[in-house]
This record gives sequence, C-alpha cells and structure tokens, in this order.
Amino acid sequence: MLKQFINLLFPPKCVFCGELLAFNSKADICNLCLDKIPFLPDEIYKLGPAYSFDSVICLCEYTGIIKDAIKRFKFHNKSHYYRTFGRLLSDKIKKVTRGQKFDIIISVPLHKERQISRGYNQSYLISSFISKELKIKEKSYCITRVKNTNVQSLTKKEGRYLNVKDAFKARYPKEIEGKSIIIVDDILTTGNTLSECSRVLKESGAKDITVVAIASGKKFI
Ligand SMILES: [Zn+2]
Repeated sequence: MLKQFINLLFPPKCVFCGELLAFNSKADICNLCLDKIPFLPDEIYKLGPAYSFDSVICLCEYTGIIKDAIKRFKFHNKSHYYRTFGRLLSDKIKKVTRGQKFDIIISVPLHKERQISRGYNQSYLISSFISKELKIKEKSYCITRVKNTNVQSLTKKEGRYLNVKDAFKARYPKEIEGKSIIIVDDILTTGNTLSECSRVLKESGAKDITVVAIASGKKFI
C-alpha cells in the first residue's frame, strides 16, 4: 500500500533515459533501454590461478548506456540505481548458479574517507539488495579497507597491483572460515582489487569466492 502511494507521488522513471514508467515497473528500466543493455551470456566464468577468486558472474559489458549509468551511480549521487542493478544481478545469479548455495555476501569496501565524501558505498547498496533478495547473509563488516588507494581507473596499468596490495584486512575470521562467499563490485577492470580482497578472505579460511559485478571491461571476460 505504502509503496503504491509513494509511486503515485513519485512515479518511477527509467534510470537510463528518464522516461516515466508504469507504477508496477520492477527494475526502473523501459523496454527500449532494456534492449540496449550489452548483456553478457548467462554463464558463470571459472578462472585460472592468476586470481584469488574462483568464479565470476557479470551482468554486461562496460560500454554504452551502462557505462554512463554506472558513472551517475558512483559519482553523481544516483544511489537509488542500486535497485535496478541489484534486481538485474539477483536475477542473473539465480539463473546461472542453479541453486548453488552461498553462505555470505560482502561488498568491496571503500576507504572511510572516500565513503564519507561520496556518502554511500555503491557496492554495499547492491550487496544489501541481493542479500535480501536471495536470502544470503550480508557481512561486509568482515573486510575493511586500510589503505586509501587511488581510483583504479585513473592509475597506470603497471601501478594497479601495487596500488591495491595490502589495501584490505579481513576481520572476524570465524565468520569467514569454511564459507562460500560472494563479493560484489561495480566494475571489473583488471580484477586486481577483487583478487586482493579474495586473497585476504582466503587467508582467513574462505572456502570459495564468487565475484559478482555489474559490468566488465572487454579485456577481462
Ligand atoms: Zn529508458
């Protein structure tokens, strides 16, 4: 009831083009924009030993309308986009894992200073959404960022690994040990940040780690 009332006052709009949508619209996307999303195949990607995580679930390529929307989501206060990305990712996870169970879900943490200046952690908003949707416990507090690294996309390639090395610390190892974990991030670029997060979680005894990301740079998948 309350949701219907709010929708009457603030009708949902497509997050990509701004078009007004039907009141019962599920993910705030119009059909035209849905067709323009560069979706990746419904697959769970297994990776070799170069990365500390075991598999990857990624919604789409980092290009076109997705690229612009992620920029607004991260840098222009469009935090409510988490509902759209969270919904699409939850559906994708359900489709590709076919009942595989995960124990906990966490998000890549921002450094405290960056979180304060941005006002929110976009990946945490998504991991919380997926947590409710798929009934997986949200435990982002199990990892923390101890180094305020430069923004990855602005760093030269060779500096990227050193940049994130030892940037994270795992906490509450009892809650990590033996667990099947999902880590959420917005964009997969080199995979170094996610690999470094996974490394510290594995050191604390994580059983297996699946990365879930909205979009991937072409070189990755
Ligand atoms: Zn649209």
